[in-house]
Amino acid sequence: MRRPLIAGNWKMNTDRASAVALAKAVAEKSGPAKHVDLLVCPPAVYLASVAEALSGTPVALGAQNVYFEDNGAFTGETSTSMLTDLGVEFVILGHSERRHVLGETDADVAKKTLKALDAGLAPIVCVGELLEEREAGRTAEVIASQFEGSLAGVSEDQMASVVIAYEPVWAIGTGKVASPEQAEEVHADLRRLLSERYSPALAEKVRILYGGSVKPGNAAELIGQPNIDGALVGGASLKADDFLGIATAA
Ligand code: 13P
Repeated sequence: MRRPLIAGNWKMNTDRASAVALAKAVAEKSGPAKHVDLLVCPPAVYLASVAEALSGTPVALGAQNVYFEDNGAFTGETSTSMLTDLGVEFVILGHSERRHVLGETDADVAKKTLKALDAGLAPIVCVGELLEEREAGRTAEVIASQFEGSLAGVSEDQMASVVIAYEPVWAIGTGKVASPEQAEEVHADLRRLLSERYSPALAEKVRILYGGSVKPGNAAELIGQPNIDGALVGGASLKADDFLGIATAA
């Protein structure tokens, strides 16, 4: 009953021409993926060009980050109203690269999540453990703490619009995908956390995506798990055929 969501996180890749070409190719070849929601998240500077390329197509547009203040003196930042102005519907928040490279905290992610929800954007809130945390047996604890911290203050009504992405940091861009069992264990934990903090009904509604080295060849088994509702795809989202291969496998 949860419609799969296949989201492409293009990260800091493409140029304007290749971003537009990739978006158009995804839209043009999306026919066999009608059973899933498709989303692409280009770099912020190309959102306007990609929005134009996707206009009138079923492919949704997302941003990779947003700031938690209204327009004003915040040099270099992008506001929620700037995103909605362009027709952006989703925003990735708390990606591991922002947490671990750029020092973003759970508190930052929570502020951004609330701001995005206020603006009618659907946040895709990312959580995931480091390799040393997994090896120390701390995965469940780390995920629970990021879940609580990053979603602090989000009401049950608001939570219905939130997507969660589980991205084990050791699986991102490494080619080392989590096994379907490893991923499902964390996804089931996340759904239990949703059920305990909100309600069983809400927990059944929220989509939880897996991210980390998803490819056309491993997507079906991952997304076939009961609690995995789609994928947040990095590298393989930069080729329309690979991205849509994942979507049709879902
Ligand atoms: P890869 O698919 O390249 O491992 O990246 C995953 C990711 O970080 C998506 O947000």
